[in-house]
Amino acid sequence: MKEINAADFQQEVLNGGKVVVDFYSTECPPCEALAPKFDAMAELYGEKIKFVKIFRQGNRELATELGVSSSPTLLFFENGKQIFDTISGGIKKSEIVERLDKMLTSEEVKVIKSNQKKTVSEYDVAILGGGPAGLTAGIYLGQAKIKTVLIDPALPGGYMGITHQVSNYPGFEQPQPGFMLAHYMSEQAKHTGIDFKVAVDITSVDLMKKEIVIDELETIKAKKIIIATGTTPNTMNAPGESEFKGKGISYCATCDAKYFVDKEVTVIGGGNSAVEEALFITKFASKVTMIHQFDKLTANQTAIEQLQANEKIVVMYEHEPRKFEKRDGKMITILEDLKTKETKELAADGVFVFIGFKSNVAVLGEHLPKMNNWGYIITDEDMKTNLPDIYAVGDIISKKYRQITTAVADGTIAAITISKE
Ligand SMILES: Cc1cc2nc3c(=O)[nH]c(=O)nc-3n(C[C@H](O)[C@H](O)[C@H](O)COP(=O)(O)OP(=O)(O)OC[C@H]3O[C@@H](n4cnc5c(N)ncnc54)[C@H](O)[C@@H]3O)c2cc1C
Repeated sequence: MKEINAADFQQEVLNGGKVVVDFYSTECPPCEALAPKFDAMAELYGEKIKFVKIFRQGNRELATELGVSSSPTLLFFENGKQIFDTISGGIKKSEIVERLDKMLTSEEVKVIKSNQKKTVSEYDVAILGGGPAGLTAGIYLGQAKIKTVLIDPALPGGYMGITHQVSNYPGFEQPQPGFMLAHYMSEQAKHTGIDFKVAVDITSVDLMKKEIVIDELETIKAKKIIIATGTTPNTMNAPGESEFKGKGISYCATCDAKYFVDKEVTVIGGGNSAVEEALFITKFASKVTMIHQFDKLTANQTAIEQLQANEKIVVMYEHEPRKFEKRDGKMITILEDLKTKETKELAADGVFVFIGFKSNVAVLGEHLPKMNNWGYIITDEDMKTNLPDIYAVGDIISKKYRQITTAVADGTIAAITISKE
């Protein structure tokens, strides 16, 4: 694995051969989650394909030239020409493998695959998800000496890890950067002796057999499973959204706001996360235009007051995005004015989308626990689902308030219940 700069790009990437390039940033949780996967791929495919990393903040001109506007972004080159689409954001190992395999002959792929061995391991409890709910369950189970594994496709921390400032988690007089809370919680869980399998691909989950396969080759069997997989940001499914994802449209302010210094940004949404993230983006951008479908914001009063006091933010109420386009390097949001039905265009350097969440149940296999009408898992007061030995905790369960404190409480209850059984 080589770290290169813009000056080396011609020599290392364009002068021939097969090369995969990782544009990464600091303070970027998806970049940190990608790093161990990228290293593992380099080890496996390194004889046939060159793997290089480029620090995006230090090589902004090259990144812009190559159309990289989100971190992390992977680009693939063969004989100096870019092949395949770029991939960015929360990149899965399987997405990389699929492209790497296409760069090689079937014989070469066969040899590489034959070097990988299948394994099976057994645990008392497997925790799916390393956000505050899963980490807290891990802390309690580890302290109770229960053989536990915590599995997460990203790095531990969940949303906590990408929240800039958390001011309502008890025990800290001053607001804490979310990544620090995530760090403290995951270190605390690690010290209890539980196993961590993080930055892995979840190949399959069978809640009836209680078997989880990760990275296609590793089977984890558990007596009990705690589901703590949280939620995923909603997308609008507007034309152009998937095309410009990572190329002008972002869902992570922590990762991408820093690239909008003195630039204009559009934020879509009007709830707590949209308002909090818009405020954060104003640390960098010169102007933030929020687009909100209702005639008032749905965030809490403190956040709304902060927003109203911020001169960089303008809110367009009762408007909805209908389409995204890119013209002359600008992201154009085509909007409908919901009152007049008029179509308008809003040009900006980038668009951030924060329009709520959906529960991460799709990854849990065929046999799903009972859920409410919105796809959130129903539990009893011990966090048990209707499936035997399957528990659920945190944002994924049917409940009224989704906060770090409530997630931590759920994790505590599930773990104590399990340790007393
Ligand atoms: C922008 C923003 C700001 C917020 N600010 C605050 C705040 O200031 N204070 C506060 O108390 N709360 C805040 N919240 C809410 C809080 O972050 C959540 O309520 C809390 O993180 C929920 O914890 P969780 O463990 O249930 O889920 P998450 O934090 O969502 O963690 C879920 C974990 O599961 C993993 N996962 C996903 N799919 C799988 C799978 N198939 N297998 C295994 N693992 C999987 C994810 O990678 C993730 O690590 C904020 C949320 C957002 C989005």
